[in-house]
Amino acid sequence: MIAANLENIHARIAAAARAAGRAPADVTLIAVSKTHPRAAVLAALAAGQAVFGENKVQEAEAKFPIPGAKLHLIGALQTNKAAQAVRIADAIDSLDRARLSDAIEKAAAAAGRLPELLVQVNIGDEPQKAGVPLAAADGFIKASRARFGAALKGLMCIPPEGVDPLPYFRRLAAMADVHGLAVRSMGMSGDFEIAIAAGATHVRVGSAIFGARPARDSGSALLNLT
Ligand SMILES: *Cc1c(COP(=O)(O)O)cnc(C)c1O
Repeated sequence: MIAANLENIHARIAAAARAAGRAPADVTLIAVSKTHPRAAVLAALAAGQAVFGENKVQEAEAKFPIPGAKLHLIGALQTNKAAQAVRIADAIDSLDRARLSDAIEKAAAAAGRLPELLVQVNIGDEPQKAGVPLAAADGFIKASRARFGAALKGLMCIPPEGVDPLPYFRRLAAMADVHGLAVRSMGMSGDFEIAIAAGATHVRVGSAIFGARPARDSGSALLNLT
């Protein structure tokens, strides 16, 4: 089932990319394996999927590293988990405040490795959501670039639920353009085609690959934990 789902998602990504005049290879699929067992990750890997997303450090550490698999941490990150995150992640996609930057910088110096970084923007300025507020985004992105240099690859967002996400995706893409950042991680199972139309370079797809998650976990990544 996982292999067939992956094939289906890749076909939809390719169609959405072509419809937008873009190359399918310009869109990276992050398979979001949160709440699903390591065996599900291995099944996806065997089917050719190499990039995975987890939203909790502890859970990610129980499944990864897996040779050949690249791990993105996509959930709100507590500063006291920064050292663990820096150790295990290939990319941290949820950089959203100076205190977290401090913790990551310190952990990276100690570990001798710095994951790739994305700034998460609270694109709908929703009080309950993680991400840097819109008014602070430009300054925070500039400060992150100054601090982390080329490790800062781009931006990530989760648009408000229940409304057309397209204007939010466009706004994130425009922000990435302004800052000369290549990566725009946006779009999930329900809206990745719209995100690709707006310029997503990375889409984060979970349930459409691995199946439904228990309801109590579905919103946890969206909460601001600090
Ligand atoms: C869970 C999660 C996803 C994947 O959601 P699906 O709707 O299952 O595709 C994407 N991004 C983030 C940040 C998540 O926490």
